[in-house]
Amino acid sequence: MTTQIAVPQIGHLIGGETTAADLRDVHDPGRLDEVVAQVAVGTADDVDRAVRAAHAAFPGWRDTPAAERVQKLMAAADILAGSGEELAPQLVREHGGVLWEAQTDFGLGTGVLQHTASLVEEFFRPTQFDDEQSFISVEKVPRGVVAAIVPWNMPVVLTMMKLAPALATGNTLVLKPSPFAPGALTLALQKIAAILPPGVLNVVHGEGDVGAALCSHPLVRKVGFTGGTATAQKVVEATASTIKNVTLELGGNDPAIVLDDADIDGTLDRMLKGVYTRTGQICFAVKRIYVPRGMYDRFADAMCDRVDQYAVGHGLDPEASFGPLNNEAQFKKVLDLLDRTRNSSAKLVQLGRKLDASSWDNGYYVLPHVVRDVEHTAPVSCEEQFGPLVPLIAYDDEEQVITWANDGEYGLGSSVWTTDPDRGLAVARRVEAGSTFINTHSFDSLDLRMPFGGIKQSGIGREFGTAGLAEYVEEHAIRRLK
Ligand code: NAD
Repeated sequence: MTTQIAVPQIGHLIGGETTAADLRDVHDPGRLDEVVAQVAVGTADDVDRAVRAAHAAFPGWRDTPAAERVQKLMAAADILAGSGEELAPQLVREHGGVLWEAQTDFGLGTGVLQHTASLVEEFFRPTQFDDEQSFISVEKVPRGVVAAIVPWNMPVVLTMMKLAPALATGNTLVLKPSPFAPGALTLALQKIAAILPPGVLNVVHGEGDVGAALCSHPLVRKVGFTGGTATAQKVVEATASTIKNVTLELGGNDPAIVLDDADIDGTLDRMLKGVYTRTGQICFAVKRIYVPRGMYDRFADAMCDRVDQYAVGHGLDPEASFGPLNNEAQFKKVLDLLDRTRNSSAKLVQLGRKLDASSWDNGYYVLPHVVRDVEHTAPVSCEEQFGPLVPLIAYDDEEQVITWANDGEYGLGSSVWTTDPDRGLAVARRVEAGSTFINTHSFDSLDLRMPFGGIKQSGIGREFGTAGLAEYVEEHAIRRLK
């Protein structure tokens, strides 16, 4: 099953121009012998040119009436919505997901643009005080040039979560996509950039050195970063010498807490969408499941029966429940965690089936696994696996499970599963995380009215909605004495 599609050549986008450069091949993680895009390899010079183009465009964009910027965002949303059908297959061949996951990425990105645009008018209303002594006006102003750095797992929506609030509030942008999923995203951004003044939206491709050059550039005033915690530490170090504001959306080890009144089938119907979707490579996926000891075996058996129905194959194969892992480092990391778990006292259960077994070794494929009879302290319970395996941990009482859920350096998403709404809310309030969902924990759980982000080492700041807009402005306080 090979698909012949033209290989796009993806240059940088600087000051409204697509620039030719050294190109490197991007391979399909499900068919490693296929090149699916050729992408520019950036340098610190490219970063400097892009930042200067964004800096030159900043005064004009800042002074563009907010209503006009909103219109541009709405037009960008239409472009993105109209690009999904054409570009989703390209995205599948870069990031390894199945088609509906890639389409969801475009759909969520469109929603973020539209929702952000709808908030701008109210957001910019100044807070004013007028009394006998003084007139005070607190006004929101853009920061200047924003650098956005994104990973490969959901590149479109993760980009829009930065682009929408940054441009809506009058900043200009330089984006660095992941080298593992640069093509489909950039092809969509080229269309969006074409409706904007040159320099408002720029894209520079490359690896960590390009990201580091952006983070340390003196004309960049803000970095919006999504990626791993270890990379974020480097981002913070690189921004330190020029004191930049940062928003960091990082990894997670999300607990799902099943309470003893939960309905097992109803819980699994919804919960499994949040475990193996995107091959487990979602920051706020269910990463560890806590089940009351009294229902542990019934829950684990029912879960294994369901997971055994999954078929793993290329993302363009309509039969595939999920696709390969995205890249070699991720593949090796997951295989290593599987090996360590196999050699531990836990019971590692391999499930599901291979769709195209003869080409299995031509991609980063891993079957789904459930880890039974595993301790809360085991590596597979404590580390962010970012792959299709999940530990099921038995607990004895509510106090213990809340302590365990809050144990660790991550605090991104989390969930509580129960048939009792009040009990669900009471337990949710005790979980230390940026988001806690009740009876849901997947793409479907997101609501743009909820700020999204992490606590502890899962991040700094929030995306979505008004909280997301606030990350991209400064407050300018003006007082006139009477
Ligand atoms: P990563 O940290 O390796 O890379 C993220 C981006 O940072 C890429 O564009 C990469 O090229 C760039 N980068 C690498 N080194 C850099 C440096 N020194 N300075 C600046 N930029 C640099 O992450 P990844 O492997 O692409 O993605 C997986 C990680 O992202 C996981 O930990 C996952 O949990 C996290 N993630 C978090 C969220 C969220 O919203 N919280 C969403 C998706 C993924």
